[in-house]
Amino acid sequence: MKVGIIGTGYVGLPTGVGLAELGNSVVCVDKVAEKIDMLNAGKLPIYEDSLDELFFKNVKNGRLKFTTSMKEAVAEADIVLIAVGTPPHPVTHEADLTFIYQAAEELAECLTGYTVVATKSTVPVGTGDEIEKIIGKKNPNADFDVISLPEFLREGYAIHDFFNPDRIIVGTNSIKAKNIMEKLYQPFAEKTNILFVSRKSSETIKYASNAFLAMKIHYINEIANFCEKTGANVAEVAKGMGLDKRIGNRFLNAGIGFGGSCFPKDTMAMAFMGQKAGAPIELVETTIKGNNKRKEQMAERILNAVCDLDNPKIAVWGLAFKEGTDDCRQSPAIEIIEKIINSNAQIKVYDPKAMQNARKILQDKVIYCDDMYETASGADVLVILTEWQQFAQADVNKLKQIMRRKVVLDFRNMLQPDEAVAAGFVYQRIGLKYEK
Ligand code: NAD
Repeated sequence: MKVGIIGTGYVGLPTGVGLAELGNSVVCVDKVAEKIDMLNAGKLPIYEDSLDELFFKNVKNGRLKFTTSMKEAVAEADIVLIAVGTPPHPVTHEADLTFIYQAAEELAECLTGYTVVATKSTVPVGTGDEIEKIIGKKNPNADFDVISLPEFLREGYAIHDFFNPDRIIVGTNSIKAKNIMEKLYQPFAEKTNILFVSRKSSETIKYASNAFLAMKIHYINEIANFCEKTGANVAEVAKGMGLDKRIGNRFLNAGIGFGGSCFPKDTMAMAFMGQKAGAPIELVETTIKGNNKRKEQMAERILNAVCDLDNPKIAVWGLAFKEGTDDCRQSPAIEIIEKIINSNAQIKVYDPKAMQNARKILQDKVIYCDDMYETASGADVLVILTEWQQFAQADVNKLKQIMRRKVVLDFRNMLQPDEAVAAGFVYQRIGLKYEK
């Protein structure tokens, strides 16, 4: 099939690569010419595991193309996927649909023949109706259906998740669109639940799912605080809870609060939608407040660890919002650093993939290091803020030699507590008051 994809970001690009790998002919359009130039020069603008191999393969075999021309991507397409950003509105925190409506206006004029216009971006309930109106008004002769096709991939695992989705949700009442989507997702028919629902249900499923996962993270973080006070160990508690199939073991890793380009904005949008509909979703509202407080608590713990020093030196491992990605959008690591940046501490930072993106946010307010030990060298306290596996392999004896004071705030529970303590460290982790 012929597929046009609008937006070559963390969703559009892996989706385009995946659909090309399945044998479709894919043309991706982006309005940022530098991104398209990079892609056409064989360079990826984002880091995603396993993306490069399939990208090169499908560019080479001619099934994957990149352009800045909307017409080139849309005119011949059977399906057009809208995968542009829906950031939070700076004042109201609802989803800002400027990019969505712009894309709808632009694509409308390029439609030829029957086309399914599928919204992959996360959009509030009723956005499909608006897109339909915009296209119909701009191009009254267009033959099209607007469907909702929410994306559930995890950054860092986008290619894996594309080929192994838990479920595919398609929101449409059109039989014609349903037939086309069944054909597109035929390779998944045997192994994946493909659920056809109304457009509004589909739009809601995406927000309700993300808000639920965010609540689960916030819940285990509060349980972690409780464990620290009572002497229980949150890792053991989470394991015991997770063995209950009704609960499940995922999203029960206590940490520094959720972040990234989805959960913060999607919980805010969900809360806004609930208020607007006259059906407030108070659990989500509480989760948002609690998650903001979580980052303050983490910053406080860092500052407390150095409060007796005149010119403290803080080393930070991890800047991306989670391991496996270079994405720093609403990264809790970055937000925590921003909360301690105005203290008198010198802050040195390191991340295996996210240095470039972090630099755009933190600019020259911190010192950037090329490796994890250089960061820790001379530091009074080492803080671990992203769960990159390489941090779990850290040589604590080497750290002992290079750090000025031996304090580790392991906010991702990466190190072996006994080893750290045996090496002479004052060691703190999440959800366990570690005393030996
Ligand atoms: P992104 O910002 O990485 O990418 C969006 C791209 O769209 C940008 O490259 C931008 O230049 C391009 N764009 C915007 N308007 C355009 C236009 N009119 N024509 C052509 N290109 C245009 O965003 P993302 O992280 O890929 O997210 C996209 C959507 O998917 C959002 O709604 C997000 O909530 C949702 N989503 C994201 C993830 C994720 O893990 N990032 C997961 C599921 C859903």
